[in-house]
Amino acid sequence: MTDFDVIVIGGGPAGCYAALTAAAKGCTVAVLEEHGVIGRPRHDPGWLMESEFTDSVIDALDGRVPWSRVKEYRVCRAESGETIEKSTLGGYLVPRDIFDREIAALAVKAGVSLYVRTGVRKLVRSGGRVTEVETNSEAVPRVTARVIICADGIRSTAGGFASEEGLCQRSQAKPGISYLLANADVSGGVIEHFLSPDPALNYKCFFAHRDGESYFTADSYKGFLELQGREDNALSRKLKKAQTVEANGFGRALSGKYGKYFEKVVRNNIIFAGDASGGAGNIHGMIQGKFAGTVAAEAVRDNDVSEERLSRYQDMVSATLGEVPFSFFSAREDFGTFNEWFRRFAEITRGMKADELAGLI
Ligand SMILES: Cc1cc2nc3c(=O)[nH]c(=O)nc-3n(C[C@H](O)[C@H](O)[C@H](O)COP(=O)(O)OP(=O)(O)OC[C@H]3O[C@@H](n4cnc5c(N)ncnc54)[C@H](O)[C@@H]3O)c2cc1C
Repeated sequence: MTDFDVIVIGGGPAGCYAALTAAAKGCTVAVLEEHGVIGRPRHDPGWLMESEFTDSVIDALDGRVPWSRVKEYRVCRAESGETIEKSTLGGYLVPRDIFDREIAALAVKAGVSLYVRTGVRKLVRSGGRVTEVETNSEAVPRVTARVIICADGIRSTAGGFASEEGLCQRSQAKPGISYLLANADVSGGVIEHFLSPDPALNYKCFFAHRDGESYFTADSYKGFLELQGREDNALSRKLKKAQTVEANGFGRALSGKYGKYFEKVVRNNIIFAGDASGGAGNIHGMIQGKFAGTVAAEAVRDNDVSEERLSRYQDMVSATLGEVPFSFFSAREDFGTFNEWFRRFAEITRGMKADELAGLI
């Protein structure tokens, strides 16, 4: 079958959770993912922000995804290593590839049809609405649906569908490399976040899943080796004996509002979720997925997939996540401290749970 109630473009956490929700509410749903493997390449250190929703996901997945609690989120001066602030509201660390794969597998269990190696190349309109999509897959070249959930990640803003649909200006994606390090001087369960007037050191982070083992990002391998070779700061000392055991490229949006939602996140019968809506964050994206799947399913049920009807999603995002977005690079500017950012996020999402996962495991 290539005719569905809902098509989800992109099999990341936002897309798979949206698909799972819509399927759990009775829709026929397809996820179209251009990569051959869900969760790879693994560019993300797998930090899940603290919230009741996160607790409920971790509870539901227990045993299927290894996780550790963040014991401490520490913000330090890169030069001296001195602690600026500490929080114990740090949430969890999970391997993002296994996490994504398990969410996708549960979406399939909920009835979702998942097509990998199926990149969407074109949205085809009829009467102003998108009625079908064209893909690069010989197996499923065209798929039709009533609602499209666009969860195609950061690419959406850099020439993908969010920019094509006019939600944002087409931005360049700034490239970087995410490393998994062995033998770094880090303690398991601790996130260390460095601030500095030196751009090479500023916003560098260790996400330590285990003692010595941490995710870390740099602009390039040369940049990583330069950091490792420096003697003038505490961060470089932590890297001294580290070796890179995995490296994955990534892109980050160059729009100045990283992690903050576009003014409009619904266009005709298309709902934008996750990074494709200007937002960011794994848990933020999954909660958006829950909202998107719910609104899409209700619209299909009531036979009204107009922009006006789907805009309820926009209202849900604005009233909650829009108040406390994943503003990683401006958290201190926006909320004063990281701790306050975490506290406000937990507060605004209180009562939201991943109930859609119940019964699937
Ligand atoms: C270096 C780095 C570190 C980060 N660390 C964290 C962190 O620790 N915690 C956190 O919460 N957030 C973190 N983030 C942000 C987080 O990774 C994203 O917000 C999250 O992955 C967004 O999920 P998503 O489902 O919207 O998009 P993605 O996870 O990017 O998924 C989008 C999917 O769409 C697919 N796709 C794209 N175009 C098409 C197409 N045309 N057709 C079909 N499929 C398509 C892609 O292949 C991809 O699988 C980090 C980001 C970066 C860059």
